[in-house]
Amino acid sequence: MTSSARPFLNRRLAEFGTTIFAEMSALALSTGSINLGQGFPDTDGPEQVREAAVRALRDGRGNQYPPGPGVPELRTAIAEHQRRRYGLGCNPDTEVLVTAGATEAIAAALLALLEPGDEVIALEPYYDSYAACIAMAGGVRVPVTLRPHHDGGASFRLDLDELRDAVTERTRLLLINTPHNPTGTVLTREELAAIAELAVERDLLVVTDEVYEHLVFDDAEHVPLATFPGMRERTVTISSAGKTFSFTGWKVGWVTAAPGLVTAVRSAKQFLTYVSSGPFQYAVAEALALPDTYFEALRAELRAKRDLLATGLAEAGFAVFRPAGTYFVTTDIRPLGESDGLAFCRALPERAGVVAIPNTVFYDHRESGAPFVRFAFCKRTEVLEEAVRRLKSLAG
Ligand code: PMP
Ligand code: GLN
Repeated sequence: MTSSARPFLNRRLAEFGTTIFAEMSALALSTGSINLGQGFPDTDGPEQVREAAVRALRDGRGNQYPPGPGVPELRTAIAEHQRRRYGLGCNPDTEVLVTAGATEAIAAALLALLEPGDEVIALEPYYDSYAACIAMAGGVRVPVTLRPHHDGGASFRLDLDELRDAVTERTRLLLINTPHNPTGTVLTREELAAIAELAVERDLLVVTDEVYEHLVFDDAEHVPLATFPGMRERTVTISSAGKTFSFTGWKVGWVTAAPGLVTAVRSAKQFLTYVSSGPFQYAVAEALALPDTYFEALRAELRAKRDLLATGLAEAGFAVFRPAGTYFVTTDIRPLGESDGLAFCRALPERAGVVAIPNTVFYDHRESGAPFVRFAFCKRTEVLEEAVRRLKSLAG
């Protein structure tokens, strides 16, 4: 503090300390625990994509500032991905913007689109950067809570009436995330259609975080919100190479949207990083062109890991919400005689040598999330097996 006793950190950010991911990864390191907290794979993505990055670097492609909107090869590959996967026509010159991960895309979108006082509806539990970026933009977050349901398998579901009721005259945008971190919920076509109808009816913008678009299991289907009637002109779609190609450290993300929206988001983005990840942009362009078999194999591998961890957690006494997508299984710790997820996660490294994430930090209504704890399954099979062995010691 200075002599005026005014805190260095401004009021907008005062409630945001260190992110839970940094706290828990540091705890994993200092205690030598298995880290099922922060969502990153413990093996790297395809060799040929890594080699493409090396080649770009050696050939001097991207070693100097790339173009502001991203290198043309990557913008073309992103547009082609949207067309091929989802039938979304997308002009690589005017409707695509490459960002420093999805994180910067979220920040730039909110900083560009919000006036101070604008309300933003976000699904709760929400990814932590949403709250911080809404705050930095001077917006007001309005959470709509996904609630546990136990019909036909436990999952967290959106109450569409609650969503509808949350819209006011001051609502500017809906911030949607599907497949959803941390619950693993994948919004259904019907739910997305209802969200789209609401957005059109109330003339709202939509920012949709689809970074787990390729990580959906069983009969779940990822449908981009931008494909619904009336949505193209009001939707900012965000994705990233981190999860799809298992290179979370490369931080190559992107925005696709109508030209006016991309221009607005770019206005903010150019003053955040301006550009990033030069050589990696070329490598991700090649990755996006991988054949369908790559994406199918990734899904199959993660589905098997989900099953291993979900089954193991159930055997260890947790109540398990079986995820339809993402890297994460959310559990309820009450069957273990526990109710405070934050205390449970802080003690877990000592008790069992495992690190997990307390979902309560992703809630405004902290008590709604208190008993829920998230485990990541994007880890090697033997690591998951060892984690399960350790967690089984909790009950006994
Ligand atoms: N959105 C969600 C829902 C996430 O889980 C994450 C973290 N991986 C991000 C955005 C950030 O993505 P990136 O690493 O590409 O910035
Ligand atoms: N998205 C990752 C997760 O949810 C973490 C990313 C980060 O550390 N900010 O675990």
